[in-house]
Amino acid sequence: TLEEIQSFEGKYPKQLWGLFFSEMWERFCFYGMRGVLTYFMITHLILENGEHMQESQANLQYGATQAFVYAFTFIGGLFADKILGFRKSLFWGGILMIIGSAILAFDPFPEQNFFLGISFTVIGTGFFKPNISTMVGSLYKRGDSRRDAGFSLFYSGINIGALLGGYACIAIGKGQLFTSFIPADKTWNVAFGLAGVVMTISLVTFIFTQKTLGPIGLSPLKSQDGETESVPEIEGIGTVQPEVTTVKRTVKSGKSWYEYAVYFGTLAFIPVVMTMVAKTEYTDWFMYIIGPCTLLYLGYEMTKHTWEESKKLLAALVFIIFSIVFWAFFEQSGGSLSIFAAKNLNNEVLGLFTLDPNGVNNAANSIFVIVFAPIVGLVWIAMAKKKIEPNTVIKFGLGFLFLAGGFYTFYTTRFFEVVAGSGIASLDVFVLAYFVITFGELCLSPIGLSIMTKLSPQRLQGVMMGMWFLASAYGQYVAGILGAGLSEAGEGDSLQQKLVTYTDGYLQLAIYAAIAGVVLIVISPIVRKLMQDVK
Ligand code: GLN
Repeated sequence: TLEEIQSFEGKYPKQLWGLFFSEMWERFCFYGMRGVLTYFMITHLILENGEHMQESQANLQYGATQAFVYAFTFIGGLFADKILGFRKSLFWGGILMIIGSAILAFDPFPEQNFFLGISFTVIGTGFFKPNISTMVGSLYKRGDSRRDAGFSLFYSGINIGALLGGYACIAIGKGQLFTSFIPADKTWNVAFGLAGVVMTISLVTFIFTQKTLGPIGLSPLKSQDGETESVPEIEGIGTVQPEVTTVKRTVKSGKSWYEYAVYFGTLAFIPVVMTMVAKTEYTDWFMYIIGPCTLLYLGYEMTKHTWEESKKLLAALVFIIFSIVFWAFFEQSGGSLSIFAAKNLNNEVLGLFTLDPNGVNNAANSIFVIVFAPIVGLVWIAMAKKKIEPNTVIKFGLGFLFLAGGFYTFYTTRFFEVVAGSGIASLDVFVLAYFVITFGELCLSPIGLSIMTKLSPQRLQGVMMGMWFLASAYGQYVAGILGAGLSEAGEGDSLQQKLVTYTDGYLQLAIYAAIAGVVLIVISPIVRKLMQDVK
């Protein structure tokens, strides 16, 4: 039962490991694909006019694709809460991702195929990504102080996958890995194919480990009327009435018809997504509409909850809104920083050996997360012991200050040209910037996942996790626009001018990030009031 799972002893619930590995392999697939996207589009994708994509367009395209990925997490979370349950959603998402990778592996070069494959992956991720995070949250009781540590471990898993996938796929695609086995004209097929194979491993892992999850993540349709799949929450100790509305299901049990409607609807929707992903103009419309709609929906849900619960949802909204800004800057990494790495960096690491700067761009952040996530976790615990642990709002603020420091470091690469006037800057300084940024991410991202599961009432867990990722969608979207602005200014310029243009942009991002951090710290008392007993 849920009670048994949540009363685990030791540091982590054993169910966490299944989720850890499924998510790790899923992220391999996702980041593998993400890491090749921009580069592939400007060098190998064949557009209908027979050409490759312009750099600035590729940035927009990248931003749009990523925006859709995360926007669909809201829809995936919603369907999971209402119809499929977390487990079936995850399974369905995984299948779609495998199909998408298979299409890309078959022939990624023509525009049509490419966007078809990408669309499957986009929707698939929407069904997979939020729901696995929510299940991690379900392993813990309300108020269990081990929850953040669990998310922190889970986040390391994410980054192990991201690292392996991010490095392997671009290296294979560019023909730098396994060259004796892979024919030179098939490297991209293999890169995308590998993502699909690994995604299959992710699903198999989940299938074999899901039994241990007990009632967690089962379809809400399956539970009988008048019964919930999880205990109704009681905030504090009996101070608030148990939520009566959760007990009365609006949907009658056993109607798998709804489930098939979701599966069928998803497939029918693929051509729409394909059109939208391929034409970035549609992304604009989509982004204008989905955000306000989700806000309205949240407002509607709030009317069904107590004022105490609604205040928590408002606090969650503050975190969500700030995270948009964070990701808009952070996600330059797959867009403008990836082009910057390809053009403006040398390939020497500390003068000792050489590495492909694009591979480094895809991998550095993940390596730092894997190494430092546990250390940051220990720092929080140590601070908690001394009763000086900053609350979540302050941690978010710190996250922004680190982000600012990181972008300031990207800015300084311009002072570290390998040969003066060459426009080729030091990879080492670039890596240092990622080092700083990673601490920002660690102050915000795993904690964000955790705080969503703390602030949402049971019935809205999936939706709120979806909203958290929807913020990433907006972040990605804005990241694409910012990146396109940077690349457009630099198109056709000499390398040295490009270096100046890009780094000027990064300096501005640093300034805005610092401002956001300060604002958060200043408003932290208000947000804490909204959060009430949640830390
Ligand atoms: N790197 C994290 C992940 O892939 C966070 C991504 C995000 O929320 N934008 O899960």
